[in-house]
Amino acid sequence: MVVNKGHCLVIGGGVSGLSTGIRLLENGWIVDLWSSKFSPNTTSDIAAALWYPFLSAPVEKTNLWGSNTYDVLKEFSTIPDAGISMTQTYEYFREIQSDPLWKDSVDKFERLTDNLPSDYVECFSFITPIIEMPVYLKWLTKKYSDLGGSFEEKTISDFLEFPSKFDIIVNCTGLEAGELIGDKEVYPIRGQVLRVKTDISEMHLDQQIPTLAYIVPRSNDMILGGVAQQDNWSLSPTGKDSKFILKKCSQIIPELKDVEIIEELVGLRPGRTSVRLEKEIVSGRALIHNYGHGGSGVTLSWGCADDVVELANG
Ligand SMILES: Cc1cc2nc3c(=O)[nH]c(=O)nc-3n(C[C@H](O)[C@H](O)[C@H](O)COP(=O)(O)OP(=O)(O)OC[C@H]3O[C@@H](n4cnc5c(N)ncnc54)[C@H](O)[C@@H]3O)c2cc1C
Repeated sequence: MVVNKGHCLVIGGGVSGLSTGIRLLENGWIVDLWSSKFSPNTTSDIAAALWYPFLSAPVEKTNLWGSNTYDVLKEFSTIPDAGISMTQTYEYFREIQSDPLWKDSVDKFERLTDNLPSDYVECFSFITPIIEMPVYLKWLTKKYSDLGGSFEEKTISDFLEFPSKFDIIVNCTGLEAGELIGDKEVYPIRGQVLRVKTDISEMHLDQQIPTLAYIVPRSNDMILGGVAQQDNWSLSPTGKDSKFILKKCSQIIPELKDVEIIEELVGLRPGRTSVRLEKEIVSGRALIHNYGHGGSGVTLSWGCADDVVELANG
């Protein structure tokens, strides 16, 4: 039997807030979640999204959080409504690489050098989850509700004033945490992606920033990316970025050159010098931060949620 540990308020309705809320409920906390926006209007909805540690730090922690999350997503991939599929993936390189630190976290990791797209000399082949965010966030929302969690649409302006019934506050406000608590280490990393229709079933990646390209198959469409523009706050898609994305993706799969674009989407990754996951005491009450996941918010979500629970219980 799970014992009631107290009342927790989670701020933020993206992947970090929902995953954290679920883990707290499973661990005996009563949870309320307040957020200015919910799916489909969060940054989390724009994520491609694949499991892959990218633009986040520190590496010792992101590896552990990522590895835990991989296992959870793999387990969820057996649930049809969750929107997750374990997918054959090829990551290409223009120079020979050493093994990635996450090599042992993924299934069937292999290095290949034959039959690669032009200009590439090496490829990592592995299986990784693709998470269809609009589907997955809907499923997470239901899971959170079914466990007894409640939601309220609310924008907070500081972390000082909350009703006394809450024993703990958890900050999962993503990029907005920067302004909200005056954290100067937070910055946007603008991303643009294209939604297109093709019947490619494997995932293809080039994760090096200047040549960044990802070809991510989903159940009814495909996401092509990307760009990673630090300190760019613009939420408007640009034709220039779309052309650049198509050019890079078609260097990997030439048929993509003339693919029809259904939609152009932009999101701002919550960049930070390192993920902030720690507890502080504010006005006599515990405030746990869980934000700044950069390009890996989905990839780190369950590992981080488990650490929040440990801090809450401790
Ligand atoms: C183009 C693109 C592609 C990406 N691809 C991937 C990928 O393949 N894999 C991956 O792992 N990650 C990817 N990411 C990164 C990922 O999207 C983020 O790291 C992740 O969404 C962060 O989740 P979050 O819940 O912390 O923040 P968010 O999703 O931004 O949620 C923050 C929440 O806090 C709420 N909030 C903010 N301020 C307040 C306030 N004052 N009061 C109340 N509520 C507030 C917001 O309304 C929102 O609900 C990608 C991002 C982009 C833009």
